[in-house]
Amino acid sequence: MHKHHNALGLAAALQPVLPVTLIRPHAAQRAARFFVEKFQGSSFYAIKANPSPDLLKLLWAEGVTNYDVASIGEVRLVATHLPEAKLAFMNPVKAEEAIREAYFVHNVRIFSLDSMEELEKISRATDNATDLSLCVRLRVSSEYSELSLASKFGIEADRAADLLMATRQVADALGICFHVGSQAMTPKAYVKAMEQVRSAIVSAGVTVDIIDVGGGFPSCYPGREAYDLQPYFDAIHAGFEELPVSYSAELWCEPGRALSAEYSSLVVRVERRRGDELYINDGAYGALFDAAHVDWRFPVQLLRQQESRTQDMAFSFYGPTCDDSDYMAGPFMLPADVKVGDYIEIGMLGAYGCAMRTAFNGFGNGATHIVTDEPMATLYGDIEIAAKRPSSNVVKL
Ligand SMILES: *Cc1c(COP(=O)(O)O)cnc(C)c1O
Repeated sequence: MHKHHNALGLAAALQPVLPVTLIRPHAAQRAARFFVEKFQGSSFYAIKANPSPDLLKLLWAEGVTNYDVASIGEVRLVATHLPEAKLAFMNPVKAEEAIREAYFVHNVRIFSLDSMEELEKISRATDNATDLSLCVRLRVSSEYSELSLASKFGIEADRAADLLMATRQVADALGICFHVGSQAMTPKAYVKAMEQVRSAIVSAGVTVDIIDVGGGFPSCYPGREAYDLQPYFDAIHAGFEELPVSYSAELWCEPGRALSAEYSSLVVRVERRRGDELYINDGAYGALFDAAHVDWRFPVQLLRQQESRTQDMAFSFYGPTCDDSDYMAGPFMLPADVKVGDYIEIGMLGAYGCAMRTAFNGFGNGATHIVTDEPMATLYGDIEIAAKRPSSNVVKL
């Protein structure tokens, strides 16, 4: 992999025909150190956000040694690259064969569930193992989050008593987990969820050993205020301290986006301009799924040696495939004189961007390069632990 200082240098040097993924190892390292030093519990990286083995190893080296996996493919991936990693298989609906392989081949001991059927399945698949940590997934509100995770999984707190008691019988350690939805806009999301955890524990009357607050920690995107994660951690820790759990109970979280968003960006080329619409060479079937399907606005910048002197205007993007829905509304703010052949950097694609790329219509196989400059925005710019590294002179947006 070649190293360049930044996207502009790379575009000028290589004039890439295909989209190029830029990775910033220092940004992921900084995010990992933040969670390791500031979250008062264990962080499990949710690898669905970005399963790149390079990223997994970076996080591992900074002390994030636990991973949240959702499929046997993710179990195998982490087990291959980080054989000593602690894995939590947190998809509440799993194939029995996947549970069996995870337990017997890859030493997975942590599983989540939200139904009696799944509890029975886990018992069968592990031959009634007695060394399991089982986390019951509660359904909590996604009202404070940009992307809901409230309808597919989870049992309602007021209906969870039987399942919690039955799981207590089987589990060596009993946990309660939830997910407030991705990009939670306020710590209140976790405070509210903790209230539901409390009522579930009280009505079941069980001893709980693990509270897992899931993911949902936000990253920074244009048009939204900058977030500080410390108030999230403070609210979670305060809520945890108040819960009626065992003295030795552990607090866990499962960040995906917050650990990976700043890791990658993308360099694309403009292939056509039609008014305020730019046809670029990556899109909804590439790294820009969220820009197309949930109208996510990513930061953009025009890559020109000589800065444009025209004012910014709002553009929308079309991707390269022949599909009408390969369209990203934006608005993406770029200088008014953008033209065919220009390169654009699209930032903050490390989470749910590069990971969702497909090969549809023959697109999707560009190169990856390391860059050493700062991501377009960062949550971690002014933290003390970042000051230990030379690459950390960042302005927090
Ligand atoms: C997707 C997911 C995560 C990660 O969520 P983020 O919002 O990216 O932090 C964590 N846990 C589970 C169970 C998930 O499905």
